[in-house]
Amino acid sequence: MDTKKAMLSRMSCKRCSAFQTRRHIWGLQGLSYAITNAKMAVAEGVLSETDAGPMAGTITFSDLHPNGPYDDLLIYSFKCTNCGRQFQLSAETYHGSGGNWAPRAI
Ligand SMILES: [Zn+2]
Repeated sequence: MDTKKAMLSRMSCKRCSAFQTRRHIWGLQGLSYAITNAKMAVAEGVLSETDAGPMAGTITFSDLHPNGPYDDLLIYSFKCTNCGRQFQLSAETYHGSGGNWAPRAI
């Protein structure tokens, strides 16, 4: 497997290219915006939710409302339905300090 080629093909995936930039989420307003974006992508079939494993919170993403309530520590994982690239939405909501949207290393 040519890893450089595989990396390039992932980079060039048009479906999830808008999600491949790591972004800081500022405060609860930013979090609400990030959740809305992710929900739209899931609704459109661009991303699908994946199991966040032991870090999974108590609220499933489909039950999550963009304006809360949230878990104190919120982690949701997604993958691109086209190229399989994985993404993670994480935030610390207890102090409202924000979080990150980030592609995950595979
Ligand atoms: Zn993709």
